[in-house]
Amino acid sequence: MSYIFPPAEIPSVPINGSEECYPVNRIYCVGQNYSDHVKEMGGDPKKNPPVFFSKPANSIVTNNSPVKFPSATNNLHHEVELVVALRGGGENIEVSAALQCVFGYAVGIDFTRRDLQAAAKESGRPWDTAKGFDQSAPISAITPFGEEKQPGEGRIALSLNGEIKQDGTLAEMIWSVAEIIAELSNFYELRAGDLIFTGTPSGVSSVSPGDHLQAEIAGIGEIEFDIVS
Ligand code: MN
Repeated sequence: MSYIFPPAEIPSVPINGSEECYPVNRIYCVGQNYSDHVKEMGGDPKKNPPVFFSKPANSIVTNNSPVKFPSATNNLHHEVELVVALRGGGENIEVSAALQCVFGYAVGIDFTRRDLQAAAKESGRPWDTAKGFDQSAPISAITPFGEEKQPGEGRIALSLNGEIKQDGTLAEMIWSVAEIIAELSNFYELRAGDLIFTGTPSGVSSVSPGDHLQAEIAGIGEIEFDIVS
């Protein structure tokens, strides 16, 4: 079979300690998964299960490349997140088996057009234009993890122009990585190459062209880049 034009490149993420790359299939995201962030957005952390949404696979930005400030927003927010990279999947995965699907972890930013998200929430419309835009998912290199060794409860933090904005720990996650994988697999047949952004701690704020962002998760990695116009 031949294509009428060259197919788009497969998005991929570098892997720490490897010459090989991780090919991205899909990007799923969890909303409202840290108790303080749910409170700052006006919600009750225990009331509802997390919200799932997605981004296009080609919205990743790798290698600390600059991110172009997107069109159609006056309020672009950073959300630093633990990203799970799957090496396997399936449907209706049990929580006890979920970590077998994990290849490794990375640090990601779930960029959000907060003004469009607020309007979508207000009118009950989808979040796609608020969340799934070009370059909306900068990601660090992936650090491989065995099933027996997991990220634990390390610090997750983001600073903007050297000032700390988000500073939490993975212990604040309402739903664990295993619970997220299990729940997500009730909606989608997960597979190798799927990335899952697992929600953000409190302290989200807006960014502008010229800003410099640095984010890290203890034991997993670091990401650092500029916002450009
Ligand atoms: Mn998020």
